[in-house]
Amino acid sequence: MKIYNFSAGPAMLPTEVMQLAQKEFTDYSGSGSGILELSHRGKFFQPVIDRAEANVRKILNLSDDFAVIFVQGGASMQFAMIPMNLLNGGTADYVDTGVWSNKASKEAKYFGTANIAASSRDDKYDHIPARDTWKLTPGAAYLHITSNNTIAGTQYRDLPDAPAGVPLVADMSSDILSRRFDANKFGLIYAGAQKNLGPAGLALVIIRKDLAARTDESKVPTMLRYSTYIENGSMFNTPPTFGVYILALVTDWILQRGGLAALEEINNAKAAKLYGFLDGSSFYQTPVKGGDRSRMNVVFRTPNDELDAKFVAEANKVGLTQLKGHRLVGGCRASIYNAMPMEGIDALIAFMKKFETENK
Ligand SMILES: *Cc1c(COP(=O)(O)O)cnc(C)c1O
Repeated sequence: MKIYNFSAGPAMLPTEVMQLAQKEFTDYSGSGSGILELSHRGKFFQPVIDRAEANVRKILNLSDDFAVIFVQGGASMQFAMIPMNLLNGGTADYVDTGVWSNKASKEAKYFGTANIAASSRDDKYDHIPARDTWKLTPGAAYLHITSNNTIAGTQYRDLPDAPAGVPLVADMSSDILSRRFDANKFGLIYAGAQKNLGPAGLALVIIRKDLAARTDESKVPTMLRYSTYIENGSMFNTPPTFGVYILALVTDWILQRGGLAALEEINNAKAAKLYGFLDGSSFYQTPVKGGDRSRMNVVFRTPNDELDAKFVAEANKVGLTQLKGHRLVGGCRASIYNAMPMEGIDALIAFMKKFETENK
């Protein structure tokens, strides 16, 4: 049976990437050893990490003002590392658009003040607060946003600007490399790899180099400084070599498919088809407001909790897996990241139609 995996993360990877990784698993590039067994300082791994970095630079058209680094600890460690390096007792603005933004802002409190500039919490995070309602701090250390809210199913259609002189920081864990955007206007972009880039545990961090100089080296341990990663090519210690290798393969795949313009087109078409079906049905509902709907995580419900559970269980039986909503919000969720083909959307819609007919 063909499986379409709708997991929010760790999520499905492109089939071609999985197959190539399998093929190379026991013998990387004729070395006689797998990539897991090769020294990070040896001649086989350096080109892999160089290619991962070069691919990210090329895909995002990044200027030389930025460093691309690979850090362990996932996106959640970045919640702490960002204020640890950039806040220095100051105030940072956070836009609270969901569970992840909220967690990020909490970590800032160890190193200064987190001002919640806007929040959609009282509306169960069903929208992104309009940019002109944000109460920003003059001279803030940075402005933090979450570009795609994996749990609530919302996404910034247009990525906002920060006031002049304030670095814009974004958690892009669940929509990085899924659409075109101007990466060069950001101060720092970070993403846990397990949604659109590769294995869990690895974070991709893109940081404007001048920001790394803000770190107070008398207070921040070596491994938690951005400068350590920049100065050592992400190899101050042993990097997560397998994660970086898969990220190199995934970004190769993105370039082969035509980069972000091509992915954006297919991702938009996938999401439009699924939302179009939801909007045309009186059986399924999605709580998310039109303009802020995520094209990565489509959140929906059947008429009641019992049917939601039945939906998830029956879908699973026909190979449409991991459709259960996040435990905090319930319902159902289809995560349709880069690796999900249009065939997966078609199979899901066909199942949803059948389930509706049988359970109306
Ligand atoms: C998954 C996710 C995280 C958490 O990532 P970890 O790597 O588990 O720390 C943070 N932010 C967003 C937007 C996510 O989707």
